[in-house]
Amino acid sequence: MAAELNPYQMAVKQLEHVARLIDLDTGILEILKKPKREIIVHLPVKMDTGEIKVFTGYRVHHNDARGPFKGGIRYHPNVNLDEVRALAMWMTWKTSVMDLPYGGAKGGVTCNPKEMSRGELERLTRRYTYAIREFIGPYVDIPAPDVYTNPQTMAWIADTYSGLQGRWEPGVVTAKPIEIGGSQGRTEATGLGTMITAREAVKKLGLSKPITVAVQGFGNVGYYAAYFSHQWGYKVVAVSDSKGGIYNPDGLNPEAVMEHKRKTRSVVGYPGARNISNEELLELDVTILVPAAIEGVITEKNADKIKAKVISEGANGPTTPEADKILHEKGIVVVPDILANAGGVTCSYFEWVQALTREWWTKEEVFQKLENKMVKAFEEVYKIYKERNVDMRTAAYIIAVSRVARAMQLRGIWP
Ligand code: NAD
Repeated sequence: MAAELNPYQMAVKQLEHVARLIDLDTGILEILKKPKREIIVHLPVKMDTGEIKVFTGYRVHHNDARGPFKGGIRYHPNVNLDEVRALAMWMTWKTSVMDLPYGGAKGGVTCNPKEMSRGELERLTRRYTYAIREFIGPYVDIPAPDVYTNPQTMAWIADTYSGLQGRWEPGVVTAKPIEIGGSQGRTEATGLGTMITAREAVKKLGLSKPITVAVQGFGNVGYYAAYFSHQWGYKVVAVSDSKGGIYNPDGLNPEAVMEHKRKTRSVVGYPGARNISNEELLELDVTILVPAAIEGVITEKNADKIKAKVISEGANGPTTPEADKILHEKGIVVVPDILANAGGVTCSYFEWVQALTREWWTKEEVFQKLENKMVKAFEEVYKIYKERNVDMRTAAYIIAVSRVARAMQLRGIWP
């Protein structure tokens, strides 16, 4: 049996597949397969006990042909170089498909943040920032949060970096707290973007009301996907979290469900709904299914049982390549993660523009600009999907890789 591919090998395989479809120059393909730069740092941190622990951190710059590097920082025990490489490459495609003036990067520190105090996390973050200071900056590489990092982490990075520069540089990171240069709407942006692309897909398919929605995962992305669905008059019939799901064919009020989750720590047991499993939720007969929890939940085992007409991938990588094929054959429109959950990085771009100009936009302005960007990117991907009779993921990759290749050619990165 063939050994399972690691994330980086998978990312390279995806790239090679698209390269064949667009007849990509082999030189450019060779360049794109490898990141431009990989930084590995060892970070001594004084723990609360007085002991010194040395953590390993990474920052991988995949490509910057279209603009400065952009990508999150992850704190997790499983962080390793190949994972960061893959995530950096995926960021290149995500910023490109959204036509943001950025390249792709990712960073991470191998650590267990759940076992660390706030003070330890702050010291680790400042040490990491110091170690990579020459490789980040408002016009070089702009980090953002990822798994187990958050606006507070970004505030520490901005402060450390700015201290070294001798001036306040809010453009060095995004998803900062609003009070120090964060953007309105950043919290809602990913879930809103996921639903904007789902809505556009529903329009294309000419589906009539009532539009029903099931959301797996009731965290940041899932909650706002449900919240905006409800606001738009869609019927949110099911939501779930790691403990299980709830179902009511007459519709749920996401704000009331969140209130219940705040009190009980789960959506399960919400009065007026039937408890269901996460597996059942995925197979409900709904118009829109939003996987917004973890990767690999739609596989060759359940793809055939999925009844949704549209799947909008709020989470990263919820659908396996085998499942993709089955869903495409069934005529289900899958809005791929690099498009469906790009509302977050798009709003990060808005935050960066605001930070550099020191001019701050209202939430309404942010949402309007997000709407415009998401609809435009969706239209572009949908056009290729129709023209080339490929699935939406392949269509998105065709656009993303072609744009990066074109920028490299024009700049003479490859003659
Ligand atoms: P989160 O931690 O706020 O929420 C995750 C939710 O998923 C929680 O409700 C959790 O209970 C649930 N969950 C965990 N394991 C589950 C399981 N096995 N089955 C069902 N539910 C489960 O995280 P988030 O920020 O909402 O991110 C969710 C996904 O979206 C991730 O894949 C993330 O990478 C992706 N994403 C997030 C953003 C963003 O801006 N937050 C941007 C792009 C992509």
